[in-house]
This record gives sequence, structure tokens and C-alpha cells, in this order.
Amino acid sequence: MFCRIVDGKIPAEIVLRNDKVVAFKDINPQAPVHLLIIPVKHIDSLMSIEAGNAEVLTAVFAAVRKLAAEHGLQEGFRVVANCGENGGQTVGHLHFHVLGRRAMSWPPG
Ligand code: 5GP
Repeated sequence: MFCRIVDGKIPAEIVLRNDKVVAFKDINPQAPVHLLIIPVKHIDSLMSIEAGNAEVLTAVFAAVRKLAAEHGLQEGFRVVANCGENGGQTVGHLHFHVLGRRAMSWPPG
């Protein structure tokens, strides 16, 4: 489904796009800032990452730093990648949540 956001077939509030990653606002935000970063190339989940995906992962974390600076997350933020059913993954396209502008608790729910 997130491939359709990459292709522009379903609308999203895109905040960053380059040849490796797209980032957009989560439709159901769990914090004042809640962004999703996804690879342009489809990868199912954390468990599907291969050695050849190194550049994509570097681009993901470059996007994390850029978005944190642009969205006022200087006081800290959380990056989450849910994996599989018990991990709470509901969309089968690797994505990294970036959550911030509130204090986070631990353990997560
Ligand atoms: P997961 O539960 O797989 O870790 O995270 C999926 C996230 O995608 C959820 O936070 C959910 O709100 C978000 N989401 C699901 N469908 C859409 C959509 O069509 N557009 C946007 N912007 N976010 C979505």
C-alpha cells in the first residue's frame, strides 16, 4: 500500500522525497510530530533487509536527521520500526516511525 504513496496513486502529506526514500505524515498521529520514512524500493519488513540495501538504510537515517532538524525535534525523538504481527506491523512495506514533540514513555505498549 505504501508503494502507492511512492507512486502518488494515494495522497499523502509528503515532507521529504529523494531517489531512495519518501517521508510523509502518519494519517493517525501518535505524537505532535509523527512521520513515516519508507524506502522507494519495496522491502517487506526489517526481516527482508539484505546486504544490498545498505545505501537505502543510510538514506533512511540521513532522512531521520534532516526531518528531526526541520520539525523541531532538538529535545529528542523516537524512531520505531514495528516488525511482524507481535511487533505491531500493520503495513507490509518497511517503514520507520519518527515520533516527537512530546516526552515518550518506556516500556512501549
Ligand atoms: P505499523 O503499524 O505498520 O508500524 O504502522 C503503520 C502506520 O501507517 C500507522 O501508524 C498508520 O497510521 C499509518 N498509515 C496506514 N495507512 C496510511 C495511509 O494511507 N496514509 C498515511 N499517511 N499513513 C497511513
